[in-house]
Amino acid sequence: MADVLCAWCGTLIGQSEAEHSHGICRSCYRELRGIPDLSESELDGLPFGVIVLAEDGTILAYNLAEGGLSGREPSAVIGRNFFTEIAPCTAVQAFQGAFHEFCRRGEDSRTFHFTFRFPEGPVRVQIVFLHRGADVVVAVRKRADQGA
Ligand SMILES: [Zn+2]
Repeated sequence: MADVLCAWCGTLIGQSEAEHSHGICRSCYRELRGIPDLSESELDGLPFGVIVLAEDGTILAYNLAEGGLSGREPSAVIGRNFFTEIAPCTAVQAFQGAFHEFCRRGEDSRTFHFTFRFPEGPVRVQIVFLHRGADVVVAVRKRADQGA
């Protein structure tokens, strides 16, 4: 049986845990589940990127860590459309398609790998989607195996 690593922190987790937590360890999952309740300043204190999107892709929040990852000023992207204006590399089935599916379905969270095609070069990330009312929280963490 292969080792299962937490997709968020990289800690070794048991396979039974992975079943309830979508490959994310219990403590990371608890932390991620709390994100929709955080204030804007609390979001800015997180060590990983967080983007809050309306169902139509409008950016409602964009924290400092995400700004650092993408090289964008959060104040310059809020209110704009993530898929068409800010990150057109995400307007693909693997991201936007997954986002639309997630908006329609009852699942609590969804995790997947993605590669952002920034002008400075590709950045491989782990993505977690969570619901915040009708909106979606997108948590973004740079993968440790970057460049591998
Ligand atoms: Zn973890």
